[in-house]
Amino acid sequence: MTAPHRSLWLAQAYTGSTDQPELRGSERADVAIVGGGFLGLWTAILLKERQPSIDVVVIERDICGGGASGRNGGFVLSWWPKLATLVKLVGAREAVELAQASEDAITEIEQACDTYGIDAQFRRGGWLWTAATDVQRGSWTPTVELCEQLGVQPFEQLSPAEIARRTGSAVHLEGVIEPSGATVHPGYLVRGLARVALQLGVRIYEHTPMVELDRREPAVIRTPHGAVTADTVVLAINAHAAGVRELHRKIVAITSDMVSTPPIPERLEEIGWTGGECISDSQLQIHYYRTTADGRIAFGKGGWGIALGGRMGAGFDRSARRAADVTLDFRRLYPNLADVTIDQDWSGPIDRSPTGIPLFGNLGGRRHILYGAGFSGNGVGPARLGGRILAGMVLGDRDGLATCGLVNGKPGSFPPDPIRYVGAHVVRTGVAAKEAKEAVGQQPSRVSEFLAGLAPGGMIPKKGKPKS
Ligand SMILES: Cc1cc2nc3c(=O)[nH]c(=O)nc-3n(C[C@H](O)[C@H](O)[C@H](O)COP(=O)(O)OP(=O)(O)OC[C@H]3O[C@@H](n4cnc5c(N)ncnc54)[C@H](O)[C@@H]3O)c2cc1C
Repeated sequence: MTAPHRSLWLAQAYTGSTDQPELRGSERADVAIVGGGFLGLWTAILLKERQPSIDVVVIERDICGGGASGRNGGFVLSWWPKLATLVKLVGAREAVELAQASEDAITEIEQACDTYGIDAQFRRGGWLWTAATDVQRGSWTPTVELCEQLGVQPFEQLSPAEIARRTGSAVHLEGVIEPSGATVHPGYLVRGLARVALQLGVRIYEHTPMVELDRREPAVIRTPHGAVTADTVVLAINAHAAGVRELHRKIVAITSDMVSTPPIPERLEEIGWTGGECISDSQLQIHYYRTTADGRIAFGKGGWGIALGGRMGAGFDRSARRAADVTLDFRRLYPNLADVTIDQDWSGPIDRSPTGIPLFGNLGGRRHILYGAGFSGNGVGPARLGGRILAGMVLGDRDGLATCGLVNGKPGSFPPDPIRYVGAHVVRTGVAAKEAKEAVGQQPSRVSEFLAGLAPGGMIPKKGKPKS
């Protein structure tokens, strides 16, 4: 496999000197985890922390962090913005527990970085959920009201002046802050987690794709030059899950695209964006942006390219056309940085689920094959929680997270390909047309509004009253 175009984060964190070998020959393990991203690595680490004698193998088709985990915005967020969806899925009491567990996961990541000496540049500057156009105003209100109804208060209202000041751009009209939100350098975090897993005795094989999964018991993972036989297999393959027949209707692979500036610490100082806040607007094709420890801005936009089945081409690594579009959006949101250049761009896959909340379960009902996927663009923090769920399932926990309502739940389904591929393109075109008009204060067409109404919620819920 030729190395894909790498992100800013991996350009900084990955030297190549720490590559683990490709699997050659046959291996036996208690647990074989497919996928060396945040979910697979947290699952491996949590298994070893809970039961040091357990024998764990991770196989990764590229390098650990070569997928979404080494390419994302590094926002470490909770599930509070998705509370309404959680309530629908698991009921109010458990929804609050899961959202609280997702907030706790942020602290757990900070603590794990301290414990294991991972310098992931963790910074808790809060998450600003903002409106950058008139129609986005108050997008958070239904969620904030639902939180109040359920007796929790994860968000704080900020004045419009405070939002403009903290974002460093008066294009931001109003918003709320979720103080628990943090940022990390995802490249240092994921490469650090791989190191920790190795130190705990996990065997990692990089450059080793699973080409076939024999689902009988014990399961056998076949790779180009070897095989792993394991009592339990955990699939932690993110958007590639769309190519697994049992998960095809549950996961759609779409792109998210990022650009970044060179270090501009003096300009950040000048515009006042110095508190380490990570920021989103309230578009469906969400914009998300943060500053970095070396004074850059990393700016992303969700939901453009769509894969047919699990087949993700080179456009999932980089697209000049989409990078140009994202750059234009950066210029619109930060007109005061019009002269700042963009020097890097990259893309990555998002594992969109029907609800925007990930799914965990037993593949095709099989006791010995587990999966977790569907983080829908919010997985940096929740993958830690997902690791706890999957580790608990492997170890046979009979209560707690391993038996929560997200495990073997009923999240609904996407239509099969090629219908969904065509349908998703049509809907996406409608969303883009609608949001382009709204960005310049114009009325979108009825058709684009109708099509946008068909899109599932992404990283943040769609505007509208949540049903509790
Ligand atoms: C551009 C972008 C920006 C994002 N921004 C944010 C953000 O700011 N905050 C946030 O919370 N989330 C964000 N996300 C989402 C977040 O990155 C993911 O949800 C999270 O990293 C999920 O981790 P994972 O382990 O499930 O997936 P991955 O990191 O993709 O790990 C899965 C791994 O499985 C491997 N694999 C797949 N198939 C096989 C196979 N057959 N054999 C062997 N290995 C295989 C892949 O190579 C990959 O390394 C973003 C995603 C992208 C792409």
